[in-house]
Amino acid sequence: MKSLKENSQKTHIVIIGSGIIGKFNALELSELGFQITIIDPNQLQNSSNAALGLLMGNMYQRRRGRSWDLRKQSIELWPQWIRFLQKFNYELNIEKPLIQLTTNEEKFKKLEKFISEINDQNLRILEKDSIFINNINKAFQTKNIKGMISLKDGRINALSLLQTLDKYLKHKKINHLKEEIIKIKKSNNQWISTTRNNENIKSDMVILCNSLKAIDLIDSLSHNIKLKPILGQAMEIDINDAEVDLLSLPRQFNINGKNIIPKSKNKLIIGSTDEYSTEPKENTFEKLTNFLDKKPNWLMKGKISKKWYGIRSRPDGEASPIMKNLEDGLIICTGFYKNGILLAPACSKWVANEIRNYFY
Ligand SMILES: Cc1cc2nc3c(=O)[nH]c(=O)nc-3n(C[C@H](O)[C@H](O)[C@H](O)COP(=O)(O)OP(=O)(O)OC[C@H]3O[C@@H](n4cnc5c(N)ncnc54)[C@H](O)[C@@H]3O)c2cc1C
Repeated sequence: MKSLKENSQKTHIVIIGSGIIGKFNALELSELGFQITIIDPNQLQNSSNAALGLLMGNMYQRRRGRSWDLRKQSIELWPQWIRFLQKFNYELNIEKPLIQLTTNEEKFKKLEKFISEINDQNLRILEKDSIFINNINKAFQTKNIKGMISLKDGRINALSLLQTLDKYLKHKKINHLKEEIIKIKKSNNQWISTTRNNENIKSDMVILCNSLKAIDLIDSLSHNIKLKPILGQAMEIDINDAEVDLLSLPRQFNINGKNIIPKSKNKLIIGSTDEYSTEPKENTFEKLTNFLDKKPNWLMKGKISKKWYGIRSRPDGEASPIMKNLEDGLIICTGFYKNGILLAPACSKWVANEIRNYFY
């Protein structure tokens, strides 16, 4: 039997889609020695470019099941990949900690129960008079915010991560084609991916990382996979109030489901929404700022300086994400409706293991 190295050097893998999932698969498989071609007509306008990059791993309130297993693996893999990718961008890091807050007493009780049962020094309930809670109450003019801090969760800048992965792919001379694949088929033990320009790309394997469009490339009769589009919006707002210093707030936190990232004394990012839609409506500001019973004045008067959105794919009728070995040499890795950035390392590892099994 040939070794993986011997096999991998001769094996050509086509990855369709160059969002975080396609790029991470390319990284993992290229490090194993496979010959990779990554194909995407529009890699700058996808949901990965819209992501806020919060890595909510340890604070996930379940400790069993597939979702937790993927998170757990990703949490372990992230520091190793960061160290590796720092060769290409020494500034890449995970900004910690992450704070999750609520004004809902029932949700807070659940948090308390989770923390007491989990008994992990890196997960704690924030004391009422802690500096974080004091500063948040002061800025948001509230009294009833409570929550937890996770010292090991945090945020990676998603754009910087994508650019760093591009640097890596370039350094490894990985073939990156700006094409749309409209058809894939198997012929004589090889996969043929056809581009819109009618070019055929031959490979030994294909990995579908093209989110919603993955189902257009597979036979719907043999594979019953359904995906729904979920729109996620985010915005950057400028505030004009000398009384408020947004830098007194934690670097990244979540209040009642909205993620907040102060960028400077008077600028912050808020995201994101989960909408069953493909087109953002005009009420972005309302949707993203309605996370408290009463908005503080500075937030009410805030002006949007930038807004953006991404369309993610949510599996219909099965759990997210969808990672399946569909046929010999065809793998699908999609349905990353939430947490695609967080889960990328664990999912790429899963794909690599499937490919290993294919050879042995
Ligand atoms: C506003 C917002 C905030 C978010 N915040 C977070 C967060 O804080 N933390 C987190 O973990 N996740 C977050 N997410 C979710 C995360 O962005 C997604 O889960 C992740 O980006 C999905 O990555 P992907 O590679 O599967 O899809 P995408 O990034 O959408 O990439 C799919 C790619 O496939 C390409 N493609 C499609 N069809 C074809 C074809 N036929 N041929 C070739 N290429 C094709 C597309 O051009 C696209 O580039 C957020 C998402 C949004 C929208």
